[in-house]
Amino acid sequence: MTLVCTGTIGIDTVQTPDSGERADILGGSCTYFSAAASFYGPVRIVAAVGDDFPPEHVETIRHFKGIDIAGLETRAGSKTFRWGGRYHDNMDHRDTLFTELGVLEEAPPTVPEAYRDSGVVFLANSHPSIQAGMLEQLPNRKLAVADTMDLWIEIARAELDGLLGKVDGLVLNYDEAEQFTGKKNTVAAGRHMLDHGPRFVVIKKGEHGAILVHRDGIAALPAYPAEQVVDPTGAGDSFAGGMMGAIARELSVDASLDPGSFDTIRRAMAHGTVVASFNIEAFSLERLATLTVDELDARFREYGAMMHLG
Ligand code: AMP
Repeated sequence: MTLVCTGTIGIDTVQTPDSGERADILGGSCTYFSAAASFYGPVRIVAAVGDDFPPEHVETIRHFKGIDIAGLETRAGSKTFRWGGRYHDNMDHRDTLFTELGVLEEAPPTVPEAYRDSGVVFLANSHPSIQAGMLEQLPNRKLAVADTMDLWIEIARAELDGLLGKVDGLVLNYDEAEQFTGKKNTVAAGRHMLDHGPRFVVIKKGEHGAILVHRDGIAALPAYPAEQVVDPTGAGDSFAGGMMGAIARELSVDASLDPGSFDTIRRAMAHGTVVASFNIEAFSLERLATLTVDELDARFREYGAMMHLG
């Protein structure tokens, strides 16, 4: 069952306390998502960049063989989305230094005709209107999950509320869940969001893992205990990419699977956790670009063994 994702493809400037600063590197929510998902099967992307988007960044995306870029639009006269961030000493918190929306302020990209049969949909971080526009163009979806972020909770709350009623699941950071609901407790925040429509919410807690609040139960997954964190950017998006990629892979083996069930999501979160742990070992997509399936499988087994309670 084919996976499709919309989100940002952008140019980032990242400052870290230990590894220094990198300017104008490839970033964006859709970029990290699709690179991670490509380890599990094909992934289609729907996104727009401006004519300032460097050709070497397109080459980096092309390097991930599973990514179908037919839905990547390059707009003449438009500017690519840009984001700058600075990490605090503990690497778990960051400040956004700037966001230049560029193409995100324009009409949403169109879903190519050939993508309309996509069954698994991920709305990576982007303006909620772009996310909603994408959903409308994907009538055959079996599962739709959205991610969001502080900026959209702040500036596009009504659109985000509307989106919650249309998706099966939501993925977001714990501080954003608090900002969204006014509730400090993760489970209470998750339950509050379920009242707005989705069947499940995945709340990410950085190095403390992720919590699944589902209508059929609650689960907590630890993060893989990483020894080396160079740049946490994209951890959330690559987590989501691994998770959704694993769901799409399961669905292609067993079409009768309920892709939004508690067990399916929990299993898939383990894959997301492991692929995200590689992403943070280098800036941009540098680590995912060299990652092999054998390395991924070995760490997945190690992670499973760590969680085994005997
Ligand atoms: P993550 O670390 O998983 O939250 O993802 C970081 C990536 O998201 C960066 O590469 C940014 O380009 C991108 N990004 C930052 N802010 C936004 C936003 N408001 N909407 C969409 N993407 C964003």
